[in-house]
Amino acid sequence: MKLVVLGAGESGVGTAILGKQKGYDVFVSDKGVIAEKYKKVLLNNDISFEEKKHTESKIFDADIVMKSPGIPDKVSIVKALKNKGIKVISEIEFASKYTKGIIVGITGSNGKTTTTMLVNHILKKGDLNVGMGGNIGESFAQQVAENNFDIHVLELSSFQLDGIECFAPHIAIITNISPDHLDRYDYMFENYINSKFRITENQTENDFLIYDYDDEVISNWLKNNKVKATLLPFSLETELKQGVFLKDNNIVIKYKTENIIMNKSTLALKGKHNTKNAMAAAMAASLLKVRKEAIRESLEDFEGAEHRLESVLKINGVQYINDSKATNVNATFYALDSMKTPTVWIVGGVDKGNDYLDLMPLVREKVKAIICLGLDNQKIVQTFCNVVDLIVETAGAEEAVKVAYKIAEKGDTVLLSPACASFDLFDNYEDRGNQFKQAVREL
Ligand code: ADP
Repeated sequence: MKLVVLGAGESGVGTAILGKQKGYDVFVSDKGVIAEKYKKVLLNNDISFEEKKHTESKIFDADIVMKSPGIPDKVSIVKALKNKGIKVISEIEFASKYTKGIIVGITGSNGKTTTTMLVNHILKKGDLNVGMGGNIGESFAQQVAENNFDIHVLELSSFQLDGIECFAPHIAIITNISPDHLDRYDYMFENYINSKFRITENQTENDFLIYDYDDEVISNWLKNNKVKATLLPFSLETELKQGVFLKDNNIVIKYKTENIIMNKSTLALKGKHNTKNAMAAAMAASLLKVRKEAIRESLEDFEGAEHRLESVLKINGVQYINDSKATNVNATFYALDSMKTPTVWIVGGVDKGNDYLDLMPLVREKVKAIICLGLDNQKIVQTFCNVVDLIVETAGAEEAVKVAYKIAEKGDTVLLSPACASFDLFDNYEDRGNQFKQAVREL
């Protein structure tokens, strides 16, 4: 069988290795330049590849094609493959055929990485043989090729889910759904929602779907569509018949029996959004029979992921927080919501069609000054100029931090939570967060 892999990044190279191991005749094709580290891996594994082009004769010869998640469906080579009736799948579809391990799949618009890390941390503490992968760290395919995990905890993007046929996680988590990546979905939110829900399409009655009960987008979809898996919602607001909820500030899991896991005040990660992430992770771990003491301990000692509401330093009584990963309005909503002190808010970058109105009440209540960090800040200035007295435009992390330092007073928080993508001024959100942290340290 001939396997063609389109795109030689983490997913593509992982798939190529696994394919080769399983006896496929593998060919990797990338229209761009392949990173040196991946080239080395391909050469070491004796896998043939090309870069800076797609040679149609070789690609159309495939029995099966794995398309990397970064490649949109509308590029001509993918359209041509589909027209020819050649099967185009994603890495998770391919890799899942070759593992007997239990899959915990985590998707959603925000909170995927945090929840994936939480689940992994709890399962490890429960002494389970678990590997974490997908959008985070190593690819799932590579994991399947090189390890023999009993459980795979996978962070899944909608792009990975778009290319599935039979992929079925035993436990699926949808953290929440808000508009994102609409350029890949014909600007139709509906398409993006359907794509997220593909995580459950092949699940059976023996599987589970964990989701945010308070998320209207999710509950509306579930009203209008049938799901075979057992539904286990989590809610901050409602005491549920089955699922995870709060009772006197305790996190309670109710499925067959009812168990108090812990008081929410002792969670390591702060903010309502993180309470939800913790609830989802606790539910998943409990289904995998991890003891509640181990779940509690893990949720108490978990060290948060970098660039997500990350405490940097306290200087002259001012707390500096790096939330550079907040690349959409919803993530920033929860960041502002979790602020306990007057906030100097650093925001801006590449706007993805943002509607800032959702933030208005929080900005009124908590924000004393706005520092714009982007090339084009017009929309932010216009939206908030009647609400916040002090708005300053800057065009670099160092400048933004210096301005924030001048404005902030003892007891305040300086929060970088941009609600925007970073590529106008930075390489990516990590670069933005690192430059911010460096500038804070230099104060
Ligand atoms: P993802 O992997 O889905 O991008 P992350 O865990 O990396 O999610 O978090 C991305 C951003 O969203 C961070 O700013 C984080 O603080 C925020 N966030 C985390 N969990 C949630 C949630 N459940 N709802 C909304 N925002 C969240």
